[in-house]
Amino acid sequence: MTDAAGQDTAMWREVAPRVLVRTNPGFGMNTGLVIGDERVLIIDTGAGPRQGAAILAAVRELTDLPLTAVNTHAHYDHYFGNAVMAAHGVADIWATSRCAAAITERGDSQRPAVAALEAEMAAGTGGHTEILAPTRLVDGAPVDLDLGGISVTLFHLGRGHTDHDLLVGAGDVLFTGDLVEQGADPSFEDSFPKEWIRTLGKMTALEDLYSVFVPGHGEPVSMDFVATQMNKMRTAVAVTRSAMDQASVDMTKAIPILPYGPEQSRALLMRLRTLARWKWLKQ
Ligand SMILES: [Zn+2]
Repeated sequence: MTDAAGQDTAMWREVAPRVLVRTNPGFGMNTGLVIGDERVLIIDTGAGPRQGAAILAAVRELTDLPLTAVNTHAHYDHYFGNAVMAAHGVADIWATSRCAAAITERGDSQRPAVAALEAEMAAGTGGHTEILAPTRLVDGAPVDLDLGGISVTLFHLGRGHTDHDLLVGAGDVLFTGDLVEQGADPSFEDSFPKEWIRTLGKMTALEDLYSVFVPGHGEPVSMDFVATQMNKMRTAVAVTRSAMDQASVDMTKAIPILPYGPEQSRALLMRLRTLARWKWLKQ
């Protein structure tokens, strides 16, 4: 949300005791907040220094405790606020090691995506516009962070929206990053669609642990929503693959029958084609 002057007026919403979410303007990315007795965890830092600073200011309206951050994955809207947060007392930023590597390798190439919202970040000039990769890494085993009175668990369930999505469990709330999307189609550009279905299946198997799922964008959802997203994706991948197998058929004919809008249907098709080519090249 922004007011008439373009100021970020988004509010925190409590999804469980000590667990909050705030939807940033522009890309509509959800930033999570878990408030312990001793420390506070910020989940995803925003699309640049302006958004990162707005998130920090909103956190400081609630608490003066020391801050730690997490990046769920290496897409610009989720981590371009890292530098401004690090400059304002966020000592540790956690992510998977592959996420940190992707930020280092591809961060600069993502700058143009935020031009409309964060001109300085897009240009790479001005305060806190450097690409800052996380330094605390989750690699294999889950990591528990004790925040005092509540602990969070950082874990990776397999490839999906990217090859490095990190999930954050806090109480009975699971922050899913863009593995789950509410109000829009899933984004397939850097995805591994077949494995994404499997990863969503693993997520639904956690139903004894988590009952509220906070997607990367959109409203918090239930386990049923996650299962529905999985089933829809399974259908979409099956339809697309069978179109790919029928070499004589124009594959784009599959687009209207996919359960997504034209943009993400095309993205899914392109991605499956690219992955099939990689597989073929490796043989
Ligand atoms: Zn993403």
